[in-house]
Amino acid sequence: NKQVIMKDYVSGFPDESYMSITISTLTLPLKLPFSGNGVLLKNLYLSCDPYMINRMRKPHASSYVDSFQPGSPISGYGVAKVLDSGDPNFKEGDLVWGITGWEEYSIINATQALFKIRHTDVPLSYYTGLLGMPGMTAYVGFHEICSPQKGERVFISAASGAVGQLVGQFAKLLGCYVVGSAGSKEKVDLLKKKFGFDEAFNYKEEPDLDAALKRYFPEGIDIYFENVGGKTLDAVLLNMRINGRIAVCGMISQYNLEKPEGVHNLMNLIVKRIRMQGFIVTDHYNLYPKFLELVLPYLRQGKIEYVEDIIEGLENAPSALIGLFTGRNVGKQVVVVSRE
Ligand code: NDP
Repeated sequence: NKQVIMKDYVSGFPDESYMSITISTLTLPLKLPFSGNGVLLKNLYLSCDPYMINRMRKPHASSYVDSFQPGSPISGYGVAKVLDSGDPNFKEGDLVWGITGWEEYSIINATQALFKIRHTDVPLSYYTGLLGMPGMTAYVGFHEICSPQKGERVFISAASGAVGQLVGQFAKLLGCYVVGSAGSKEKVDLLKKKFGFDEAFNYKEEPDLDAALKRYFPEGIDIYFENVGGKTLDAVLLNMRINGRIAVCGMISQYNLEKPEGVHNLMNLIVKRIRMQGFIVTDHYNLYPKFLELVLPYLRQGKIEYVEDIIEGLENAPSALIGLFTGRNVGKQVVVVSRE
C-alpha cells in the first residue's frame, strides 16, 4: 500500500519535504481484516484542499479540524471503490466520496465519512469538486449565506478555483453581474471565456485594488464571496454597498503567515449595514440531496462548466497540495491514484 506520510508538523510556508511516500505490504486478495463496521476502499481520486494545511500544523486555536499525526498517512476528500464492507449500508463495488486516506487502500468508518455515489453518468472525479465538498461550499456559501437577488453585483476572489468558478456560475444563472479576481492571465481568460463572468482581473497586476474594484463596481458591491482575506478584503470593505453581504468562506492568503495581517476597514460594516458571515460547509451536508437536484440537471444540460487540474500518481500528490498556495493549480486540483 503506497501512502503519503506527514513527516513532521509544517511551520511557515509549506513545501513537499514535510511529506514522504512510503510503501508498506498489504496482502492480496483484499478482505477486511476484522468484522467491524468499517469499509475497505480502493482510492481512485484524491482532492487537494487548502484547509489540509491547517491539519499539517501543530494543534492550534484557529483550526476547526484536528491535526494529522507526524509519521501517519494524511487524509482528505476523495473518491473510492468499496472492496469489502462490514457496514450494512455499503457493499462491494459501491462507489463513494468522502474522507479517505492519502494512500492506495484505506479502511474507513463509513457512516461518519462517506457518501454513496448514485449518479455515474458524470465524470467520477467531479465528486472531489463540483459534486462534492467544494461544490457544496459554493452552493451553501452563495445561496444560503449571501441571500442573493437577481441583478445584484457579485465579487469573488480566487475565482477560478474549485469553489470560486462555481460561485460565479451560480451567480450568473441567477442573473447577477459577476466579477472575479485570479492570479494569472490564463485564469482571467477562463473566468471570462469559459465560466461566463462579466469581468475578471489579475490581482497581481493591480497595484491599487481599491481603484480596480471602483473600475468594475462604480456603484459598489452587493455580495462578496471571500476566499483570500488580507488586502483584498480591506479593499472590498471600501467598496461595499448598503446592506451588502460578505460570505467568509476562506482566507488563503493568511494560512501560511506566522501572524495574520490586520484588517483596517471594518468600520464599513456599521456604516454600510453589512452582514459578514463565516461558515463551514460540513455543518450543511443535510442540504446535499437538494444541492444535487439543482446541480445535476445544470451539468447534464451543459449550463455549468467545471475545470479540473488533474495530476497523475499518488507520488505527485504532495507537490499538487503545495501548489494550491502558489496558485499553480488551474481549476480544481485532483490527484489520480487509480482510474478503476
Ligand atoms: P482553489 O482551487 O481556489 O485553490 C487555491 C487558490 O488560491 C490558488 O490557486 C490561488 O489562485 C489562490 N491563492 C493562493 N495563495 C494566495 C494568496 N496568498 N493570495 C491570494 N490568492 C491565493 O481552492 P478552493 O476553491 O478549494 O478553496 C478556496 C477557498 O475556500 C480557500 O480559502 C479555502 O480554504 C476555502 N474553503 C472553505 C470551506 C468552508 O467550509 N468554509 C470549504 C472549502 C474551501 P490565484 O492564482 O487566483 O491566486
